[in-house]
Amino acid sequence: MDRMELACPYYKKCGGCDYQGVPYEEQLKKKQKGEQNLLGKFGKVAPILGAEDPTHYRNKVHGVFGRDKRGTVFTGIYEEKSHRIVPVEDCGIEDARATAILKTLCILARQFKFRIYDEDRETGLLRHALIRVGRTTGEIMVVLVLTDPILPSKNNFTKELCRLHPEITTIVLNINDKHTSMVLGERNIVLYGKGYIEDVLCGLRFRISPNSFYQINSEQTERLYQKAIEFGGLSGKERVLDAYCGIGTIGMCAADKAAEVIGVELNKDAVRDAISNAKLNQIKNIRFWNEDAGKFMGRLTAGKEKVDVVFMDPPRSGSTPEFIQAVHSLSPKRVVYVSCDPVTLKRDLELFVKKGWKVQRIQPVDMFPFTSHVETVVLLCRKAEQADRHIAVDYEPQGRHMEKRL
Ligand code: SAH
Repeated sequence: MDRMELACPYYKKCGGCDYQGVPYEEQLKKKQKGEQNLLGKFGKVAPILGAEDPTHYRNKVHGVFGRDKRGTVFTGIYEEKSHRIVPVEDCGIEDARATAILKTLCILARQFKFRIYDEDRETGLLRHALIRVGRTTGEIMVVLVLTDPILPSKNNFTKELCRLHPEITTIVLNINDKHTSMVLGERNIVLYGKGYIEDVLCGLRFRISPNSFYQINSEQTERLYQKAIEFGGLSGKERVLDAYCGIGTIGMCAADKAAEVIGVELNKDAVRDAISNAKLNQIKNIRFWNEDAGKFMGRLTAGKEKVDVVFMDPPRSGSTPEFIQAVHSLSPKRVVYVSCDPVTLKRDLELFVKKGWKVQRIQPVDMFPFTSHVETVVLLCRKAEQADRHIAVDYEPQGRHMEKRL
């Protein structure tokens, strides 16, 4: 495919894809420029790593249930900055298997006479559907978000959904009875299968539960993690911290190149997944803590613990001054910052630089084609470490994927 354009009938109302109709090569150029403008003052921005196929990459698909005037059930997304539901039947960036299951769920919701949730009146049962696809394993999880744990005719519904989509490996009911913009509630009831899916990333197997974070573009995540591990410059002797570790993916990819890895994560379901993932992959030199990353770091510094390399991958809001101060006090050799928002990344890098750190590498990765979001991996070193041979390597002349496209 030369010109990768999505012809999407919903994009004006949906607002999810800012680069709708923009050829993929052009999207990469725009993102490169954006990163350059925001982060260029810290150092050279390496050419963005683009995707081989920028379509249908989303392994997690979310649909809000709605009903039109004729009573037909549909799924869609909230219109930008509002709570009106825009029906979306097809989406060029979602996994096609998930889109097909969403369509079936609408038909079954009507057949089984499930009451659709009405946000204004706070009535009805069925709120959202969340579908996750394991890119490598093909395992598929369907999560139905309900206001009440009782789903009428649940056995017949499960039978029918699995008959129509034998590719589904697990079905979970998630209970969310709050008036909230959060999709998932805390309680899960397994209707069918294991209650989670597994997927393989960078040769390791990961269990993913409904409430755990998992990167939504598996192909590009492998590129992202490879870069992060490369920037970590591990020799096998280091004590590594994986902060904001989710289900433990980065730490586990680093574990065979380190002496010891510690992971910290706030979400307890993700930590539970991380612990079973270490077992699943027989990784013995990794431990996880379920705690706020800033508080955990405070304890590490108070205990005068030694950490050689820090991987940090905070949510979009970025890290905190408390966390960054603690990293500075621990004085690791290297910090690898993985960010999904260059604006908060810039803010946090400024703080590191003020404390005497130097940005050595900046690598954008296109995790979210057709949207304006960009993922970035940054390598930071203490000023004194700049002469370190491993990190002194210069940029590759051109990123492999960018080179092909531009
Ligand atoms: N590194 C993981 C997860 C990155 S997403 C991966 O690549 O998959 C960011 C993670 O930070 C989420 O799992 C979220 O639950 C976690 N998180 C958010 N705030 C946190 C905090 N204050 N302390 C620790 N973890 C936090």
